[in-house]
Amino acid sequence: MPAEALRLRGHAAAPGLAAGPLIRLRDKPTAARSASSPETERAALLRAMEQAASDLARLLDAQTSEAAAILEFQLALLEDADLTSAAFAEIDAGAPADHAWRHALDAQSADYASAEDGYFRARSADLVDLRDRVLRALSGDAGVDLRLPAGAILVADDLPPSRFLEIDWRRSVGVALIFGSASSHVAMLARARGVPMVVGLGDIPAVDGTLALLDAERGEIEIAPSAARLAEWRERTAALTARREEEQRHLAGPAITASGRRIHTMINIQGLIDLESDASAHADGVGLVRTEFLFQQQGALPDEAVQYRVYREILDWAGARPVTIRTLDAGGDKPIPGVTIDGEANPFLGVRGLRLSLRRRGLFKTQLRALARAGSSGHLKVMLPMVTTPAELREARGLLDEVLAELASEGLPARRPALGIMVEVPAAALAIDRFDADFYSIGSNDLVQYLTACDRGNGELVALADPLNPAVLELIERTVAHGRRMGVPVSLCGDMAADPRCVPALLDCGLEELSVAPPALGLLKAAITRHG
Ligand code: PEP
Ligand code: MG
Repeated sequence: MPAEALRLRGHAAAPGLAAGPLIRLRDKPTAARSASSPETERAALLRAMEQAASDLARLLDAQTSEAAAILEFQLALLEDADLTSAAFAEIDAGAPADHAWRHALDAQSADYASAEDGYFRARSADLVDLRDRVLRALSGDAGVDLRLPAGAILVADDLPPSRFLEIDWRRSVGVALIFGSASSHVAMLARARGVPMVVGLGDIPAVDGTLALLDAERGEIEIAPSAARLAEWRERTAALTARREEEQRHLAGPAITASGRRIHTMINIQGLIDLESDASAHADGVGLVRTEFLFQQQGALPDEAVQYRVYREILDWAGARPVTIRTLDAGGDKPIPGVTIDGEANPFLGVRGLRLSLRRRGLFKTQLRALARAGSSGHLKVMLPMVTTPAELREARGLLDEVLAELASEGLPARRPALGIMVEVPAAALAIDRFDADFYSIGSNDLVQYLTACDRGNGELVALADPLNPAVLELIERTVAHGRRMGVPVSLCGDMAADPRCVPALLDCGLEELSVAPPALGLLKAAITRHG
């Protein structure tokens, strides 16, 4: 145990504060097998894979939508002949089953871990999860003991998603990961379930039972804190609890300013799991569906049927509430292997968003078909990302016309959705009066990035990339004024709406619809209510 308090820095992956004893999550060591005949080893591996599949299926029964998708991904890997044949080939060459399985899975997860795209890097943890589950089954080991002491902060190298789903989070208070990534599946699960999580902390030199303060707001952990720090912590926790309670009080009701303006507060989602968040039920609708998640799944791109099912699921969830689904916004900070163009000198200024969709017409039309069909009931709006000129909007509208005509001739039920644009390219915002979209949604993340010439992911430039820069506010005002003149709605779906510092300025610009990630909905409603 460290003699003095030790503070380690990582990255916040799921917000919140937690204090409690550290408990290291250890896998029980699995004894190495010695090789018997290839037939025996094959049979042992097959049995272990069946055991893993049945455990995953049992866990799957208790999950909904995206948590289920994570487990289904692992189940699909168990059936992936490319993956398993490598292990069986090693067994045939004389290797014991555990060695062969470990080797095959390590090779595959190393491939994922070295991918350029952060999404694939994050998926390598799913492969390690599956590797260890099968290895435990091979050694007849039931795995780590998940009956953890109440109030513990779990420490692990990385926490596999299927392990996360096995833990009773009413008893444990947070997770500190030595490695891990904020865009991993397990981080998504932690955010959806409200479990504070910090990742990338590096070595955590503490024995089980040492008291620690997990600050998943700032991405830190403090081990063996002093009495003074504990007192400070209690104050911070009380302030956070009071803030959360205030947010919670405002969450259920409509958002109305002190002067009586009703503001529509919506959620941004980037996966079906976001619909499971408690806050989502209190949204006036979905202001942004980032459809990239569909295209980032492993293997083939989603076909029309897959997309149709997902869009329908969102619309069914929303009932009569409006749902704005954005067409694929690949490229820049959202590269998609096999879709985005490799080797661009500057992908943020490259063929991305609508520019890419207009060049990959087959892909774009498949998405428009799925959308038009899904929108045959419910309140669907379709939004185009990264629009620069009115000609691009016209071209996309033309493709939507084509798709609707095709669907009609095929006798498939479909409906024309409202077609709007994101206002996030300065040229579009400046010339907004040349556009005739059915609605506008300001993408402040990119608008601020391009207007201030500051990379949105560069922490060094946070102060300069100030969303309250008058240039940003002027473009927002222009867009609102254009919407009013045309009699069409204008909303904002960038992170600016989740910053209580910015909400008064947005309301003063005349915006009446704001959309944020589900965990920020209470905060947004509270900020609106405080405004005059
Ligand atoms: C934006 O740019 O503000 C936005 C909402 O879209 P994204 O963050 O997905 O680029
Ligand atoms: Mg954007």
